[in-house]
Amino acid sequence: MTPRYVRLHESGELARRAEAAAELSDPCRLCPRRCGARRLHGEIGPCGGGADAHVSAALLHTGEEPPISGARGSGTIFYFGCALGCGFCQNHQISHGAPPEAARVDDRALAKLMLGLAAAGAHNVNWVTPSHVLPAALRALDLAAAAGLSIPLVYNCSGYQTPEALALVDGVVDVALPDLKWLRPESERACGLRGDYAPNIGGILHSWFDAVGPLTLDDDGLAVSGLLVRHLVLPGNLSDTDLALALLEPLVAAGAGVSLMAQYHPPGGLRLPPPLDRTLTADEYYGFAYELRMQKPQIAFIQDLEAHGIYNPDFDTDDPFAPPETP
Ligand code: SF4
Repeated sequence: MTPRYVRLHESGELARRAEAAAELSDPCRLCPRRCGARRLHGEIGPCGGGADAHVSAALLHTGEEPPISGARGSGTIFYFGCALGCGFCQNHQISHGAPPEAARVDDRALAKLMLGLAAAGAHNVNWVTPSHVLPAALRALDLAAAAGLSIPLVYNCSGYQTPEALALVDGVVDVALPDLKWLRPESERACGLRGDYAPNIGGILHSWFDAVGPLTLDDDGLAVSGLLVRHLVLPGNLSDTDLALALLEPLVAAGAGVSLMAQYHPPGGLRLPPPLDRTLTADEYYGFAYELRMQKPQIAFIQDLEAHGIYNPDFDTDDPFAPPETP
């Protein structure tokens, strides 16, 4: 199955999308903050986004859901920065603050990273938190497609997006991997989060489904297209998982995949208030896993409670997902 961005590259539409994204980035209104940063004039937005992308790590990731990682790994590119900036972010080392200059990559270097991951055997190119670096990511994708990149593109994002920015990747992305984080205003306040996420995430998820359709696997069980929604269950149900499952039910019935994640851990080095200072209990997770199962999803993933000890990246090391050394 030919990735969708290949056709857009051949028609010239991918280059036009990249130009339209750049136009949206100065003054910047690429994300719902619409902060107006002059990113093409040297300014860095509160998301860490500038004119070019900054990359923290590019690796074959074997810890994503099985249809994403496959046997050889997902060609994962972790971008610095994030427009949403959750206080409990599991990747907080790279999602907060100004990105280091040494991590800046120009479009050609970013295209080379994608091509290098494909040459290393990646089943897909997996952009992690790309929404604030969309202009650079699209330009680099266009260059990579010109050089023969032809594996599916996975768009792994928070769901904190504007309809305009999502329209720019409609037809570009093969597999959408957005988060559904929380839904109650009380949860947003408890987590110190932005108040414009919850009211919009339902519409964004439905727009993603319209763009990519039901989650579709090939004969080897690898995702080739479609929507897979991730929901990280938080302690004390600060993730509003009861409401999240209700919101997801029609999408599940239509064939969207769901990943119900138990891997929450308090990020190292941060002092978070209770209950965010601990991992999940069995009671907080398995009841929701059962509810999801009762929806009879075609494709769904649940985790063991011990997942928090496995999926706990350290981006200060060369291999962020290597198991910690035992003393
Ligand atoms: S993507 Fe970044 S620079 Fe652009 S509006 Fe959002 S926070 Fe501001």
